[in-house]
Amino acid sequence: MGEGTKYAIFGDIHANLEAFEAVLECAASLGVTAYACVGDIVGYNACPGACVDRLMGLKCISVQGNHDYYSSHGDSLKDLHPLAAGVVEWTRQVLTPVQVDYLQKLRQKRLVDGFTLVHSTLDAPEKWGYVFDELQAEAHFAYQTSAVCFHGHTHVPAVFLKNQERTLRLPPERISASLGQKLFVNVGSVGQPRDSDPRACFVTYEPDTKTVDFHRVVYDVARTQQRILEAGLPERLALRLALGK
Ligand code: ZN
Repeated sequence: MGEGTKYAIFGDIHANLEAFEAVLECAASLGVTAYACVGDIVGYNACPGACVDRLMGLKCISVQGNHDYYSSHGDSLKDLHPLAAGVVEWTRQVLTPVQVDYLQKLRQKRLVDGFTLVHSTLDAPEKWGYVFDELQAEAHFAYQTSAVCFHGHTHVPAVFLKNQERTLRLPPERISASLGQKLFVNVGSVGQPRDSDPRACFVTYEPDTKTVDFHRVVYDVARTQQRILEAGLPERLALRLALGK
């Protein structure tokens, strides 16, 4: 990518088409020229196929999330929360072979334009570990070679910063990686935020200055809830969207 590239980086879209469209509209208004995704395109909500198609149309670079993996493989779902497993089974039935193939072939980590993408952590991407605190981030940082790495999985936006002295967890606010620092940035969730803010979350990133900005976007939650109920998916999945939990 050339100089002046501005990325929209997002993840945990989770088949929420209304939230995804709202994020893309906001990204366009911010002058974004490229897209990257930290995975979990499907799961939980009712528009998995449309979200995969939209992503493919953007030529968006993506890594694989655990829901993408399970929805495109025949593996047992015993490691998934029952609520998530039920939707994975439903998702397996509604995706087309082309969409399944796309999800199946996604890699679990990628180095793009000087930054890294992973759904969970770089120390063991296939174990789908969660990074909520500094200690969990430490294990990851041992494997991060780029100055900036983006992830998701917890649905809680955050910045983990490592310098020579220590690892810190910072609130999701504008930050630039300076020399001698590494950033592990959780981009939050487009389609099922869990930080008590129901608005869709994503970041923009400018590789030239290694600057990350967080954005929140209002979308039509009622429409997404309606689609969940129409698809016969659990009502709990619809209710949580309004709470951001
Ligand atoms: Zn997720």
